[in-house]
Amino acid sequence: MNGIQDGVAVVTGGGSGIGRQSSLRFAEAGANVVVADVDEEGGHRTVDLIESNGGEATFVETDVTDSEEVAAMVQTAIDEYGGIDFAHNNAGIAEEGARLADYDEAEWDQMIDVNLKGVWRCLKAEIPEMIERGGGAIVNTSSVAGVSANGSAHYAASKHGVIGLTRRATVDYADDGIRFNAVCPGVIDTPMVQQAGEDNTEELERITAGIPAGRLGEPEEIADAVVWLCSEDASYVMGQPIIIDGGLLVQ
Ligand code: NAP
Repeated sequence: MNGIQDGVAVVTGGGSGIGRQSSLRFAEAGANVVVADVDEEGGHRTVDLIESNGGEATFVETDVTDSEEVAAMVQTAIDEYGGIDFAHNNAGIAEEGARLADYDEAEWDQMIDVNLKGVWRCLKAEIPEMIERGGGAIVNTSSVAGVSANGSAHYAASKHGVIGLTRRATVDYADDGIRFNAVCPGVIDTPMVQQAGEDNTEELERITAGIPAGRLGEPEEIADAVVWLCSEDASYVMGQPIIIDGGLLVQ
C-alpha cells in the first residue's frame, strides 16, 4: 500500500482482536507501530508477533480514559520513532444492555467514557502532532451499531458519536492535511465476540445465521481496510463510515 512504508502508526486496543491485526498489517506495510492497550500481556504479545515477522513496534500501557496516559502514548511515538503519521483509535468495550431507560448512570458513563470520549482524547493528543508534521491519517473504530439500532443503547450511542467526531474532525482539519475515516465492523471473530458467544451460544448462532456472508468476519478483514484508509491509495476518502459487515445491514 502506498505511503505507509517508514511511517509511524499508533493503535489503541492493539493488544487484541481488530487492533492486534491492524498493528500487524501496519507493520507488514513497513510502518513503525506503537501498540497501546490496557492489557499489558496482550500488547507485548502483539509486539512479539510484529518483531518475529521482522517488523518494528513498541508497547505502551494506555488506558484511553486517562488523558495523561493518552498524551504519553503519543509522546512514545515521538520519542521512539520521531512523530506520528497514522492512528487507529480502536480501543473499546461492549456490553449487553438493558432497554435504555433501565441503565444506571455509572454503566452509561463508563461506556461513553471508553468508546466515545476515549476516541476524542486520542484525537486531541494526535492532531496537534500531525499538524506539526504536516498531515496524517486517522481511522476510528465505530460499528454497525454506529449506523443502525444494532447493539445496546449505550454502545450504539457511543458508536454513533464516533462517526460524528470523525465527520467533524474531517471538516475542522482538512486544511491541515489530516484525513479522518471510520470503520464500522459487523460481527467479527475477536475475544470480545467469543466471550459473548460463550455466554450465549444460541444468540451467536442466530446472529451468524442472519449474516448474508454466512459467517463472522475476521479481524484481518477490518485491519486491511484500516491500513488502506491510511494509505495514499485512499487519498480522496474523507469523513466516511466504511461498513464491513458481510452484508448484515443491506437486508
Ligand atoms: P477486543 O478483542 O476485546 O479488543 C479490545 C482491546 O481494547 C482489548 O485488549 C481491551 O483490553 C482494550 N481496551 C478496553 N478498554 C480499554 C481502555 N479503556 N483503554 C485501552 N484499551 C482498552 O475487541 P475487538 O472486537 O477487537 O474490538 C475492537 C473495537 O472494535 C472496539 O471498539 C469494538 O467496539 C469494535 N467493534 C468490534 C466488533 C466485533 O464484532 N468484534 C464489531 C463492531 C465494532 P481488555 O481486554 O483488557 O479489556
